[in-house]
Amino acid sequence: MRTWLAELAWLPALGLRADVLIEAAGDRLTAVTPDVQEPAVTSTRLRGLTMPGLANAHSHAFHRALRGVTQASRGTFWTWREHMYEVADRLDPDSYLALATAVYAEMALAGVSCVGEFHYLHHGQGGKPYADPNEMGRALIEAASRAGIRITLLDACYLSGGLAADGRQQPLEGPQLRFGDADGAAWAARADALGLDAAGSLGPGARAGAAIHSVRAVPPAQMPDVVAWSHRYGAPLHAHVSEQVAENRACLAAYRATPAEVLSRAGALGPRSTAVHATHVTGADIELLGGGRCHVCFCPTTEADLADGIGPARALADAGSPLTLGSDSNAVIDLLEEARRVELGERLATQERGHFTAVELGTAATATGHASLGWAEAGELAAGAFADFVTIALDTPRTAGATTATALESVIFGASAADVRSLVVGGRDVVTGGRHVLVPDVAAALSAAIAVLR
Ligand SMILES: [Zn+2]
Repeated sequence: MRTWLAELAWLPALGLRADVLIEAAGDRLTAVTPDVQEPAVTSTRLRGLTMPGLANAHSHAFHRALRGVTQASRGTFWTWREHMYEVADRLDPDSYLALATAVYAEMALAGVSCVGEFHYLHHGQGGKPYADPNEMGRALIEAASRAGIRITLLDACYLSGGLAADGRQQPLEGPQLRFGDADGAAWAARADALGLDAAGSLGPGARAGAAIHSVRAVPPAQMPDVVAWSHRYGAPLHAHVSEQVAENRACLAAYRATPAEVLSRAGALGPRSTAVHATHVTGADIELLGGGRCHVCFCPTTEADLADGIGPARALADAGSPLTLGSDSNAVIDLLEEARRVELGERLATQERGHFTAVELGTAATATGHASLGWAEAGELAAGAFADFVTIALDTPRTAGATTATALESVIFGASAADVRSLVVGGRDVVTGGRHVLVPDVAAALSAAIAVLR
């Protein structure tokens, strides 16, 4: 049994409330009560704005090693991808465990309590499976545990090297061989061997999900195996969709259909699904995604860094697609920045302000993100939910001047990851006073883990 007294907290239906007593037994909240000035029990004080822990719905942990390196050169998404393959080729289970632990610790410092890791680096060099063919995936699960956050391991099916401009399938080659399984059925057999239970759980803080890497990497005939696997476990199903114009062109040449249409025909778009990016989608694609209540995950810092473009977030949300957020390439790890960039991107594209409210953006970063990762019982400060919450300081140079009425706007539009003061996950302290409890020097851990890859 633990209790906290939050100076200010963002509560479902009630909005921002002061003096909120938060009570937990084990890993669950038992009561959340506003306007409690003098709690009867001794409580930990939370100074600032307390909100549900943030869900980072799309991450590739190892891309963190590219930060700064790929920004030093010109190029396109495709030249960036060559750098990414070079790092992918150097990782092994030990170095990946060290790197991912440090990256997830950085996420915790940014208030992230749950990560969706879109995992495709499965095998050893040349595509040789490890003795345990899920060794890399297990390293990621262990890394999340060491960093104190929840993980949904979105195991990605990745079978072909891409679609040529004329639509021909290309074989896996070079570092891509590490991503591949023989076919959809072989992917499903390996994913089964992760050892998940009937509800997709991999342990107390870990759940499994499926991913179709993209229409570039999975032929349509192989998609039903991945879809069926996700249905069997009631698990999330994620896919990269229309990140690049070239992907659309090749997909149209190959299948006379857009990526969203190809995925729809394979039964891959539904309420447990997430279309990641959805940057270059057509009006018909928007109807297809929204009509299926398929989540869309926007990753605006990566989409800007890779020169992808600005996706139609508002149109997708209006069509029925719940919005989630991801740090994707981890060029930046700051979910608050991802949230505000969705709105700011719309402003730049339309020359009008006010497309998403701070509440909508905050919901994307919390409840909706968790739902898309299969953690429906996380993402809200309410009795019965997981005791996962972040407190953001309102007395830093960036947040000073925030009022009770507009503190959420101050945080979403002005705060940064550096303003995160504390993070509790499952009732346990992960960050206190801006410092990670389990990984004492996150910067040193990152430096060491990245240095061995260069
Ligand atoms: Zn991605």
